[in-house]
Amino acid sequence: MKNTISQTLEVNKVSESKIGQVDFENLNFGKIFTDHMFVCDYINGEWQTPKIIPYGPLSMDPSARVFHYGQAVFEGMKAYKDDNGDTFLFRPDENYNRINKSAERLAMPEFPEDYFFEGLNTLLKLDNEWIKPGFGNSLYIRPFVIATQASVSASEADEYKFLIICSPAQSYYSGEVSVLVEERYSRSANGGFGYAKAAGNYAGQFYPTKLAKEKGYQQIIWTDADTHQYMEEAGTMNVFFRINDTLLTAPVSDRILDGVTRKSLITLAEKQGITVDVRPVKVSEIVEAAKNGSLKEIFGAGTAAVVSPVKAFGYQGEHYELAKQENSYASHFKKALMDIQYNKAEDAFGWRYKV
Ligand SMILES: *Cc1c(COP(=O)(O)O)cnc(C)c1O
Repeated sequence: MKNTISQTLEVNKVSESKIGQVDFENLNFGKIFTDHMFVCDYINGEWQTPKIIPYGPLSMDPSARVFHYGQAVFEGMKAYKDDNGDTFLFRPDENYNRINKSAERLAMPEFPEDYFFEGLNTLLKLDNEWIKPGFGNSLYIRPFVIATQASVSASEADEYKFLIICSPAQSYYSGEVSVLVEERYSRSANGGFGYAKAAGNYAGQFYPTKLAKEKGYQQIIWTDADTHQYMEEAGTMNVFFRINDTLLTAPVSDRILDGVTRKSLITLAEKQGITVDVRPVKVSEIVEAAKNGSLKEIFGAGTAAVVSPVKAFGYQGEHYELAKQENSYASHFKKALMDIQYNKAEDAFGWRYKV
């Protein structure tokens, strides 16, 4: 069935949904995708007619530049359903702006705002059944852009594909993680592209993370590439430290990704009278605070898990366990943010976006 719903967007629906085959009680994160996807090609210096088509494999020339030079950027966002069945996004303008910021750094073209929002809205309406109500259930949304131009010549491409794919996600209790403070490898450097959500930033951290896992840690906290003396962020999350009742987090820079969850937590904390010190955080002061008991919590902040508590960290061969907190900031902020996302709390900052 082919029908055009607007002048700019072509919709080609599946003849039959595969939703009946999905076990929503036992979802493996990121493995199952909805019936449709959004695609838009960039050719001859212009974005072509955007389309929504059945989810399925892409056909690409093996010389497409994304395979050779990693010219690829992405976003991660979620859609939530409230008890009335209304669907919401959380600060999607931030994701839209960020994917273009990432694209610019990788010499890729800007994507038009109206295509992005019309595509997203139409896709979420078509696949709305895939967003299950219930606190913690969501639809993980992955917009991404890849260089499709056929040619192994080492320069920026002039053909690209923008896609949005969606995967149902469940609230999961990831457990508390142990993290290793990295002393040798670096995720990003001054003048690099650590601030971009670029595929290559991930590729480069799998190996050090594998080594950390062999030592019994699930994730790495990256330190600055120059001195390895300052805490930066985890691989997919920004990081907060609670010393007594103050929160510390590193300022964003060209090495650190400007997370939507991070900036939302800072705003919420300040509104609630909790001091947030945004400043370079020395590894030595965190070690000192762990030793004298003033380090109460460490947690990661990112769209996928919202807030992830850390139970221990390793540094220079030592292992530091954090004491369990009653009324942790981590659980408080996780609930406060999710209450806004699921339309259960007042949206004082205008963060919810109704689909
Ligand atoms: C996506 C990401 C985050 C978290 O950003 P959110 O907008 O909160 O999801 C943090 N660090 C890195 C490196 C990331 O890629």
